[in-house]
Amino acid sequence: MEILNGVKEQDMVENQTALYDVIIIGGGPAGATAAIYTARAGLNTLVVDKGLTAGALGITGKIANYPGVSEPISGADLLEQMRRQAESFGAKFVFDRVVGADLTSPEKIIFANQGTYSGRTVIIATGSMGRGSRIKGEDRLLGKGVSYCATCDGAFFRDKEVIVAGSTDEAIEEALFLTRFASRVHFLSPTPELKAPRKMIDELEKNIRVNLVKGVSLSEILGENKVEGARFAKRGMPEEIIQATGAFIYLQGGKPVTDFLMGQLALSESGCLSVDAEFQTAIPGVYAVGDVLCDHIKQAVVAASEGAVAAIALEKNLRGRSKMTVDWAK
Ligand SMILES: Cc1cc2nc3c(=O)[nH]c(=O)nc-3n(C[C@H](O)[C@H](O)[C@H](O)COP(=O)(O)OP(=O)(O)OC[C@H]3O[C@@H](n4cnc5c(N)ncnc54)[C@H](O)[C@@H]3O)c2cc1C
Repeated sequence: MEILNGVKEQDMVENQTALYDVIIIGGGPAGATAAIYTARAGLNTLVVDKGLTAGALGITGKIANYPGVSEPISGADLLEQMRRQAESFGAKFVFDRVVGADLTSPEKIIFANQGTYSGRTVIIATGSMGRGSRIKGEDRLLGKGVSYCATCDGAFFRDKEVIVAGSTDEAIEEALFLTRFASRVHFLSPTPELKAPRKMIDELEKNIRVNLVKGVSLSEILGENKVEGARFAKRGMPEEIIQATGAFIYLQGGKPVTDFLMGQLALSESGCLSVDAEFQTAIPGVYAVGDVLCDHIKQAVVAASEGAVAAIALEKNLRGRSKMTVDWAK
């Protein structure tokens, strides 16, 4: 049986045919905590997340102010614990990047790189690590060599050279997938160190098809009608050009991640989402929590508490009760 990014093919088929009570987009502290609560409330819960180190908590080197965790811990380790806790109550996690959604009908459809998922309700918990600006040439060459999905487009680059830009586990997974096809994968990391579990970094560094360049500023994707290369510079060094026919981009920024909503929810001027006191958006059954929100204090414990409140409210509304039921020991 083929394994796609750690998910068994059979699990993928089951995830895609099921109608979940709740689909949570994003498994950071907001989404993972929501999953703990919805799963404990007996709701069939799916979390779709694109990577452990693709969010704000995942890239945090050390967190020392999360209540109950007295020893300093890396954000990724804390997040891993939250996710395992949610799984222990029955929540399912899939490693996938959400690229679109139909939230208007009673059955919400979530479109991701590896498939579609259906849910009666949705919690948006995608954080605020989205990119504000594009690299020169990126938009123009989208679909002409620029891609955000190796599993979708990797096979087009058999025996060709490609660029992967990023530094998270999402970027590394995609780069390793591309080594199955491409003759050379130029991995351009904007940071001097990669932000991913050691095992993954080792795998990338050992792969003979990978050319790893760290601390890089990528300034342009080159080519007229198709990608021909990229212009970049290492810190304090002159610009260089690398030849390639594909450019897979997984860079991060500081904008709320809402691109997949495709205008279905109004955004503030700074691109964040607004909700009511139950964390429900203007679309009934669609909730939003964490750093993706306006008027939110960017702290892990705040994101987690919003996830808990949204989950409790969602459960009340889904089951048609007038009062919220708190989650006592079971
Ligand atoms: C460098 C740094 C240090 C920090 N230090 C602290 C600290 O010490 N203490 C503290 O309390 N807070 C700290 N914070 C803030 C805290 O990390 C955030 O407030 C918190 O992580 C927000 O949680 P979230 O779940 O809303 O978003 P995130 O943690 O960003 O999680 C979002 C999740 O959504 C997923 N995702 C995004 N887009 C998609 C998509 N299209 N498809 C699928 N999945 C997607 C990502 O993979 C990610 O897992 C720090 C933040 C940063 C950046």
